[in-house]
Amino acid sequence: MLEVKNLNVRYGGIHAVRGIDFNVPEGSIVTLIGANGAGKSSSLRAICNLVKKTGNVAFMGQDISKIPTKDIVKMGITMVPEGRRVFSDLTIYENLILGAYTRKDKENVKKDMEWVYSIFPRLKERETQMAGTLSGGEQQMLALGRALMSRPKLLMLDEPSLGLAPILVKDVFSVIKKIHDDGVTILLIEQNARMALKIADYAYVLETGTITLTGTGEELLQNDKVLKAYLGGV
Ligand code: ATP
Repeated sequence: MLEVKNLNVRYGGIHAVRGIDFNVPEGSIVTLIGANGAGKSSSLRAICNLVKKTGNVAFMGQDISKIPTKDIVKMGITMVPEGRRVFSDLTIYENLILGAYTRKDKENVKKDMEWVYSIFPRLKERETQMAGTLSGGEQQMLALGRALMSRPKLLMLDEPSLGLAPILVKDVFSVIKKIHDDGVTILLIEQNARMALKIADYAYVLETGTITLTGTGEELLQNDKVLKAYLGGV
């Protein structure tokens, strides 16, 4: 579904992403794992054309390397950036509706609101509440829900578990699985390698801008190098 070839991102003298290749097949969960600063966020931002890049990105067979971000969203790619940016002064309902603003099929938006509420029942219970009053975990759920309101074919998640208590991390991952089960392809960036590898069909390890290891989630969970570097093993 998504094919990335020879992707490079440079910030002045910093070569943050160094000619990486990766694929996200339709219906899969693919994860990019790696330490802080490895180039994970830059890769996602490059796919959406939010940073300057070189290389080729194809989505459903179409070259999207030079397409403006808003058109990439219309084609079916939605990103949830790091840091759960919700609109604090708007209600949960208003935040969700904003996620659908590019859509023309307004009659389906209502149906999708019910879909989102079925995944996140707590959001329905609180739909008239201001988003700013939600806890960090709830705001992350709202950010995910808002992304789903654009009915993405491919959902790209940047560190969805960052800063959450362990119990909430579990909730976020089970929600990601549920979204995937409902037919959404997922590209997930995580520092929580163990949780990410557990749900991923395929994984790539990124180190200082280069892919150093690839394999199924299961394979990498058992890889000595991954165990030592990312899973706290010896
Ligand atoms: P994190 O988990 O911290 O987001 P990451 O793996 O996503 O890490 P990136 O955020 O992609 O890594 O950063 C890769 C490198 O590029 C780092 O050295 C970072 O300091 C640098 N970098 C990222 N954004 C910029 C920017 N806007 N300007 C200059 N350098 C940047």
